[in-house]
Amino acid sequence: MGQTLPSTCDTLIIGAGMSGLAAGIRLAQYDQNVVVLDRHALWGGLNSFYKKAGRPFDVGLHALTNYVDKGTRGKPLTRILRQLRIPYDALELGQQWISESAFPGVKLRFSNDFQLLRSEVAEKFPSQIDGFDRLSAYLAEYPDLPSDGPPVFARTRLAEYLTDEQLVDLLLLPILYYGSPTPSDIEWGSFVVLWKSLYEEGFARPKGGVRTILSLLRDRFRELGGQLHMRQGVSQVLHENGKAIGVRLDSGHEIRAARILSSAGLVETMDLCGEALNKQYSEDKFAGEMTFVECISLLDTPLQDLGHDKTITFFNSSERLVYEAPTDAFDCQSGVICCPDHYDNQVPQHEPALRLTLRAHPKMWFQMGDEEYAAAKHAAWQQGHAAILPFAPDIRDHTVFVDTFTPRTVRKFTGHSRGVVYGSPTKSPDGTTDLENLFLMGTDQGFLGIVGAMLSGIAMANVHALQTSPS
Ligand SMILES: Cc1cc2nc3c(=O)[nH]c(=O)nc-3n(C[C@H](O)[C@H](O)[C@H](O)COP(=O)(O)OP(=O)(O)OC[C@H]3O[C@@H](n4cnc5c(N)ncnc54)[C@H](O)[C@@H]3O)c2cc1C
Repeated sequence: MGQTLPSTCDTLIIGAGMSGLAAGIRLAQYDQNVVVLDRHALWGGLNSFYKKAGRPFDVGLHALTNYVDKGTRGKPLTRILRQLRIPYDALELGQQWISESAFPGVKLRFSNDFQLLRSEVAEKFPSQIDGFDRLSAYLAEYPDLPSDGPPVFARTRLAEYLTDEQLVDLLLLPILYYGSPTPSDIEWGSFVVLWKSLYEEGFARPKGGVRTILSLLRDRFRELGGQLHMRQGVSQVLHENGKAIGVRLDSGHEIRAARILSSAGLVETMDLCGEALNKQYSEDKFAGEMTFVECISLLDTPLQDLGHDKTITFFNSSERLVYEAPTDAFDCQSGVICCPDHYDNQVPQHEPALRLTLRAHPKMWFQMGDEEYAAAKHAAWQQGHAAILPFAPDIRDHTVFVDTFTPRTVRKFTGHSRGVVYGSPTKSPDGTTDLENLFLMGTDQGFLGIVGAMLSGIAMANVHALQTSPS
């Protein structure tokens, strides 16, 4: 961004998303010469921002998870802010109104007060409340770290506490939609992280949307002397004798670095290392398949006036939970309805909005010609909004503008293979790769979401770049 590209640095970071910027700040605080590179023109990665028809949009912000009150100690949100030295008040957070997990004939409401979820379980599943209390007490003490070792899945562990499969499905629906790279289930360590971030803590939104967070991160990084270079894609990780020594950019420019932290993803990062290394990480085996289409509809009427007051509704219209890659381009049996205006303390960015997220096929969108692609986006909006009528008002006659992103959009702007949002089901909890000083952070290290990605960036910077002496 106006700076000359260097030819050496201490730590080189691939990606100016949440994890990359957080890692960059952490290292710049310790006077490292740190360079963040991103191929895209705007920073933020999967949670960036853009303008269309003069209207400002957030790419992905449904909710900042992990909400806690100012001054709460030892929780992810306050821990990140302390480590990055960003004041809590600068986020100008507004709390969610109320959210719900909804199946035909049964809903569990939840908010930033865990007792609401507990009372819903007690009322609707009285035989399960003892198991639920044992589960929540156990989880409250469980460390919020991605687990190492062979994966154990949440359904198996939950069966030790809950015998009603419908309750398990209701509790899993929001968790899978907000972070599972695996169809129908989620690895136990990730389940615990998401349980805490969604149910024990909760949802909030910065007053200015994702721009508020991203401006704070970028400004802090620059203030500390960090170098952020946009439109600078990394085409190759250079290595010798099993050690990464630097990168080559799309322009051919080379930068040598003592170490590299990459948020590009497992398959994508190994792809940069050349055939000898990437052949073990085939897209089919490692890229993951959970991706989404999201329709953002701008309305002529506030949703409250149409009788809808929920912040986020996770819906499932069949008896059992459906969370898998669809066989068609998209699938409307389950999804997420988000009303970004339904937080306290909001200044609407534009007309009232409704965001509808549906599961998308990980390959089909890339095979479509332009006309077929436009028609599929329109079909997702039409069919999706018809399918959610049991859970939300009919907005079709109130819609003044629609923007839809697909797996193709995700791949175009973030480089993620197949446009997957939650990365590979194979995570690297300690961030290590086949090269000695090349590390993964963000989604494929095992922490995702805005707060999770920032935590990951800070943790990987602390462990791999601050405990070794800079060159
Ligand atoms: C539609 C959508 C909605 C979401 N909603 C929420 C939400 O409401 N709340 C929440 O907490 N999370 C949400 N998420 C998830 C969250 O955005 C991500 O988990 C998080 O932002 C991931 O951050 P990251 O740093 O790990 O990776 P990314 O954001 O993917 O950043 C990686 C960066 O690396 C860059 N890059 C890749 N390859 C190269 C290369 N070769 N050279 C240079 N640069 C490269 C990319 O351009 C990108 O900027 C959402 C995601 C999506 C897609």
